[in-house]
Amino acid sequence: MSESEELNSIAHKWCWGTIDLSDQSVRRGGPVWNPLVAELVTAGAVMLELWDRVLSPRQRAGLAEGFAAESEQSARLVAAFLAGVSRVGYASPSHMVAFGARQQPSLTLDKARADWQEQALKAGLPLPAAGAWVRGADPEHIAAAVLPRLTGCDCAGYVDGERCRDRDHHGLYVAAYALNRHGADVLHADTVAKAYRATGGPAWDAVRAALVDAVAHHVGLDVRSLPRLVRPTEPTRLTAFGRLVSQSSGLSRGDASRGFASPDDSKEAVSDRARLHAREAVSRIRVAG
Ligand SMILES: [Zn+2]
Repeated sequence: MSESEELNSIAHKWCWGTIDLSDQSVRRGGPVWNPLVAELVTAGAVMLELWDRVLSPRQRAGLAEGFAAESEQSARLVAAFLAGVSRVGYASPSHMVAFGARQQPSLTLDKARADWQEQALKAGLPLPAAGAWVRGADPEHIAAAVLPRLTGCDCAGYVDGERCRDRDHHGLYVAAYALNRHGADVLHADTVAKAYRATGGPAWDAVRAALVDAVAHHVGLDVRSLPRLVRPTEPTRLTAFGRLVSQSSGLSRGDASRGFASPDDSKEAVSDRARLHAREAVSRIRVAG
């Protein structure tokens, strides 16, 4: 592996997910920010737990039908994969430079941001230069713009997130657009085109591809098989799925009181941690519900 390939293979681990400036995570040996990759993998793990332990046979069959999946097992894997990648749009220049923008300004925050930025740049994360104007877009819209391309559509001649005309890829677009809090059928082509211009280009595509790979690895899915496994055509039939994705994402956020994950964690460590987190989070809602 060349040095630049090696850099590429770790840059995605420096995208941040949840930030907590209390010293809770630090006291447990973790950083003040939880890696986005850990939260994506955990969201996939949560969906698997929900599928296996919470959903009724009827709900599972309904989801498999909505996906027009080749089997319920395929639908289960695809559901987990999509829940995992639903927040991939957070891996974009405008969101990443906004490290801690929702926190109270403080010296602790300034230092945390400077530390993170220095190490993220060293790891190869293509952050814009300090002070540069950065185009922004809703992370959900960015996800819709980039996911079909990251999950099997390689059709030439379509730009700005435009939908291709390959019938085998239609389902990829339907699935990517369904990962939207506001409903599966509300995204307009102009919204997606605008979001496409905020994706940050090929350097960020590589970061997002690595995040997608991490989720696929955890779920045990070959991304290239996606167009074959599911062929959803009716966005409205994925409404229940959209709610489960939101729930999985919500339950996957890092918990500072247990210490955040580290960008140095191996794939196996990320997966083990995700599985444990998911099992506990879903047990809590089963008890509560
Ligand atoms: Zn295509």
